Amino acid sequence: MQDGFQVFKFGGASIKDAAAIRNVAAILEDFQGLPLVVVISAMGKTTNALEEVLKLYRAGQQEAAREALYAIRDQHRSVAMELFGEAGIPPELADHLNDLMVPVEWQLEDEPSDNGDFDYDQIVSLGELFSTLIIAAYLNQNGRKTFWLDARDAILTDDIYRQGGVQWPETQKRIQSLVPPHIKAGELVLTQGFIASTSDLNTITLGREGSDYTAAIFSYCLDAERMSIWKDVPGVLTADPRKFKNVSKLDRLSYREAIEMTYYGAKVIHPKTIKPLQNKSIPLQVRSFIDPAGEGTLISDALEDEAYPAMVAVEDGQALVHVSTRDFSFVAEQHIKEFFDLIAELRLRVNMIQNTAIAFNVVFNDVDGKVDEFCERLQERYKTLIDRDLQLITVRNYTDETVESLKRGKLVLLEGRLPKTVQMVVREQPVLVSK
Ligand code: ADP
Ligand code: ASP
Ligand code: MG
Repeated sequence: MQDGFQVFKFGGASIKDAAAIRNVAAILEDFQGLPLVVVISAMGKTTNALEEVLKLYRAGQQEAAREALYAIRDQHRSVAMELFGEAGIPPELADHLNDLMVPVEWQLEDEPSDNGDFDYDQIVSLGELFSTLIIAAYLNQNGRKTFWLDARDAILTDDIYRQGGVQWPETQKRIQSLVPPHIKAGELVLTQGFIASTSDLNTITLGREGSDYTAAIFSYCLDAERMSIWKDVPGVLTADPRKFKNVSKLDRLSYREAIEMTYYGAKVIHPKTIKPLQNKSIPLQVRSFIDPAGEGTLISDALEDEAYPAMVAVEDGQALVHVSTRDFSFVAEQHIKEFFDLIAELRLRVNMIQNTAIAFNVVFNDVDGKVDEFCERLQERYKTLIDRDLQLITVRNYTDETVESLKRGKLVLLEGRLPKTVQMVVREQPVLVSK
C-alpha cells in the first residue's frame, strides 16, 4: 500500500454556503499532490432539517414532509448555482442529485415502516450525499481531479440503524482496495461522513456528528500518517467558547484526555473518533478552516504525563433516575444486574452512577423516550423518580476553584470525584442576592 495517506474532515459549518465551499477548495489547493482522502458532512444544519422531514413523515404528514424535502433540495440547488455561476450546474450533477431524491420520494409515498430508525437513516443520509456530490463536481470543474467515493461501498456495518457498528475486517478490505487506485491516478478521494451500508445494502448512519468517526475509520484502514479535522475554532480549547469566557487553546493533548473530554460532551470531536486513531498511533490535528495557517491542536500518544490545565465539558439533556426497592431490601448484585440488562437492551447511555443501601441513582442522556421506558419496565418491583433537564458538567484536571465557580447559580443533584475528574449533575437555579 502507498505510504503517507492523510485524511481530512470538513464539517457542516465549513461548507455551510457557496463562500464556505470556496474556502474549503482554497485550503485543498495548498495540499496538491498529497495522497488525500477528504471526508465531508452535510451542509450547515441540513441534518437537522432532514430530521424534520422524518418527523413529519412519521407523524403521517406526508405532504408537509415532501415540501420540507423539496426545500432542502432547492437550497442545495441554489448553492450549486452560485458555485457554478454562468456555466450552470453540470448536467451529470443535476441528474445524480435527482436520482438520489427518487427513493426518498417513493418512501414518502408509503406508510412509515415498523422501524423508525431504518426510516431515519434512509432520509437523513441524503445530506452528505448532496453536499459531497456538489463539492466533488466543483473541485473537478476547478481542475482538481476528484473521485467521488460512495461511503456506502466502503464502510460495512451491522444493522443497528442510527448507530451502525462497523464491521472492521470487511471495511478495511474494501477501503484498501477502493482508495489507492484513485490516489495513484493523482485524484483526491472525496467521500461522505456519517453514512455507511448494511450487508443488505441498506443505507445506515453512524450516529449524529459521526463524520469525524468516518474520517477515523478511513485513517485506520489506510494506516494514515495523520488525520486533520477542520473546525470553526482554532483547536481544542479548555471549554466550549460558546458557553465559557477565558478559554485557551491546547497545543497538544493525549488521546486519553481527548477521549475523556469528548465522551462527556466536548463537542469538538466525536468521541468514537479517538479509539481507531489511538490503536494505530495516528496523530489527530484539530485545526481551523478560518485560520488555516494556525497550528491547531495535535492529539497523539506521546503526551500521557503532561500537566494539563483544567478542562470543562458540558452535556445538556440529562435525566437523573432514582431507583429504590419497594420493600426496603438492599440494592444487591441481582438488582444491579437487572438494571444493567435493561440499560443494555434499551441502549441507554449511562453518564454517572451512584448507589446507596436501598437506592440506585443513574444519569442518562434523555433521548427518544427511553428513560421513561426504563422506569416503566422497573415499576412493578421498584419505586422510580426522574429529574429531567439537567446538565452534566465534567472537569478534568480540576482545581477546587474551578469546581466552585462552576457550581455558582446551580443546584448540584449528584457529584462524583476521582483523582483527576469531578463530575456533577446540576440544575440552573437563580441565585438569591440580598437587597
Ligand atoms: P463540525 O462543523 O465539524 O460538525 P462542530 O460544530 O460539531 O463541528 O464542532 C465545533 C464546535 O465545537 C465549536 O464551534 C465549539 O463551539 C464546540 N466545542 C465544544 N467544546 C469545545 C472545546 N473544548 N474546544 C473547542 N470547541 C469546542
Ligand atoms: N451531518 C451529520 C450530523 O449533523 C454528521 C456530522 O455532521 O458529523 O450529525
Ligand atoms: Mg458537527
